Amino acid sequence: MAGVTERQILDVLKSIKDPASGKDIVGAGMIAGLQTKDGHVAFAIEVDPKNGAKMEPLRKQAEKAVHALKGVISATVVLTAERPTQAAGGGPAPQPRHAPPGPGGAKAPVLAGVRSIIAVASGKGGVGKSTTAVNLALGLAAAGHRVGLLDADIYGPSMPRMMGISGRPTSSDGQTLDAMENYGIKVMSMGFMVDEETPMIWRGPMVQSALEQMMRDVNWGELDVMVVDMPPGTGDAQLTMAQRVPLTGAVIVSTPQDIALLDARKGLNMFRKVDVPVFGLVENMSYFTCPKCGERSEIFSHGGARREAARLGMDFLGEIPLVMEIRETSDGGHPIVVSKPASEHAKVYRAIADRVWTKIEQALAAREAATPRIVIQ
Ligand code: ADP
Repeated sequence: MAGVTERQILDVLKSIKDPASGKDIVGAGMIAGLQTKDGHVAFAIEVDPKNGAKMEPLRKQAEKAVHALKGVISATVVLTAERPTQAAGGGPAPQPRHAPPGPGGAKAPVLAGVRSIIAVASGKGGVGKSTTAVNLALGLAAAGHRVGLLDADIYGPSMPRMMGISGRPTSSDGQTLDAMENYGIKVMSMGFMVDEETPMIWRGPMVQSALEQMMRDVNWGELDVMVVDMPPGTGDAQLTMAQRVPLTGAVIVSTPQDIALLDARKGLNMFRKVDVPVFGLVENMSYFTCPKCGERSEIFSHGGARREAARLGMDFLGEIPLVMEIRETSDGGHPIVVSKPASEHAKVYRAIADRVWTKIEQALAAREAATPRIVIQ
């Protein structure tokens, strides 16, 4: 297939001028991290952080120009700003600002056709957040809801593998990418767009921009719920995301060995800070079930999460055991909820999904009640 070349992309970008310096954006050395793969183009435009918001039209212009090239299926262009070097005092450097999508950096509008968006978050990596997100999404689908899964974990996108999807998204209308699909769920992940071997070097503002594009510029169709697998942790990138995405609620995944569950608390505080309701806590790798005899061992002083949730005023959504089958099925692209729906573990995920759905309905009803109605007589 005759794809677009780097040369062709740079040639078209040369015709675009940086409004700040008047130079063309290629000549001014503003293009970074250009990648092309089977018609999917991604790159960043480096901008001065103080020009932040003013550069959004430039980003759009560059994206449109590249998208118009023959052989380009998608163009993902993000603005990025160098983080100013650490102050001599060693305090945290100010976060570079990214052009907000709307006035004042307000939340992006709720996607047309998407009734609710929930985040699955964790205080740190490796607790099984993605495994929980994927099985929760499948549990929601098993209950008859229309579900989308957005992999916002762009540093380590795992949804293509866990959902058993390979290949690249295509566009049926020439404008937006169609979400990929498997097991009846729509999926979008940076893992579909860039090569796993050559990961992009993401900086804070790029993360946000890429995420917003995956929501906005993707044809998701009609969804009852979009499950967002958040990047692990509670840093600036996660906070911005929680702030800017119109989340209906959040689910926090934690493990019991994380004794005082300090990380889970950080997650809770992060969402509270931005007024996103926390639906509750899921304890993953809660206890160990012996695959041979079925005996249950509480290797990590199980129960800590339930107590901690109660102490923090959070609901406890359920506990998932540490079992080989869960790891093998999700790492192999056949998550347990679809590959072994009759198993005990699949039932646990479905029960969590049902609890989450009840919370979603409550949150939507509360939102509805808070919206003033205009009666036209
Ligand atoms: P995170 O998204 O928090 O980084 P992952 O979902 O990628 O974590 O899980 C990390 C590893 O642990 C994966 O190999 C996954 O299969 C495994 N894992 C997650 N939950 C369980 C579980 N309940 N039992 C066994 N293995 C699990």
